Amino acid sequence: MKLLDGKICAESLVAGIAKRVACYVNSGLRKPHMTVILVGEHAPSESYVKSKIKSCVSAGFESALLRFPESISESDLLANIAEINGNSATDGLIVQLPVPKHINSQNIINAIDPPKDIDGFHPTNFGRMTLGQKAFRPATAYGICKLLQFYEIPVKGKHCVVIGRSNIVGKPISIMLSNDFEIGNATVTLAHIETPRALLLDETRRADIIVVAVGIPGFITEDMVKEGVVMIDVGINRLNNGKLVGDVDFEHVSAKCSWITPVPGGVGRMTVAALMINTLMAYENNLMAYENNLMAYKDNFSLE
Ligand code: NAD
Repeated sequence: MKLLDGKICAESLVAGIAKRVACYVNSGLRKPHMTVILVGEHAPSESYVKSKIKSCVSAGFESALLRFPESISESDLLANIAEINGNSATDGLIVQLPVPKHINSQNIINAIDPPKDIDGFHPTNFGRMTLGQKAFRPATAYGICKLLQFYEIPVKGKHCVVIGRSNIVGKPISIMLSNDFEIGNATVTLAHIETPRALLLDETRRADIIVVAVGIPGFITEDMVKEGVVMIDVGINRLNNGKLVGDVDFEHVSAKCSWITPVPGGVGRMTVAALMINTLMAYENNLMAYENNLMAYKDNFSLE
């Protein structure tokens, strides 16, 4: 078993970005800029936002964290988003999810200007990605692809099983792995909560690659997988003893895997790195005055 080390891969990607940013800055241009909106107090969100801001520093980006109280109305939040959309000095905007229950998160996602939508959740970006067009790709799914690419894991022609169909992870990764992308061309099964257990087992037991994003500790057990499977564990679950674990029973399953992501230090790190790639793309589009021109989005982005 070998580890798909998200920390090593993310650090390498971010170092490549920092090098590219240094060239821009040395030629007199401003730094890329990311704006993060955080509404209310939510411990996991605090920690995700902290790691995004920290990664901006490593990448040579500037960033702004805008905090709003839990009580902010949806219309006030939308007004703030509209203001940031109109500010050409910031390249990318994230609204950290979840937002409080009285705010409709889809309205928030839809309000972000697509060229600034570095999370890739806006219907324009999601739709373009689905159609195989140039777009910002949802960061966790994109991060998984970059991790597979970094470790040169063959994907083309493989049988992948994705478990979980959330808009932010399961759905986009199932589309990306099956699309005609550089990391793609797999045959993908998407399983979810309504998938009968027997069917799920049939699928996972013959899968070459499993991506699990269900949020249940120990969901993937040894008997569910074949020898040599590549296991991508997206889950982030905090146990009562404070320990952070994924959705895979790592202790018993890892021995059967050819490759497996650790939790922490796997997909989570890659999500942040992918966000940095998307921000650099947004900056380059912005610099080249291609804003509003979605055709300017780069495809198959890679760093030397
Ligand atoms: P979610 O929590 O919105 O939904 C869970 C999904 O799991 C649903 O689609 C549901 O159909 C499926 N599911 C639940 N029980 C199932 C079962 N018994 N059999 C098959 N499918 C089942 O999904 P999410 O937001 O993608 O989050 C999933 C996990 O991934 C969570 O632990 C979350 O914290 C983590 N996550 C990690 C990252 C990262 O960067 N590593 C990013 C996003 C989410």
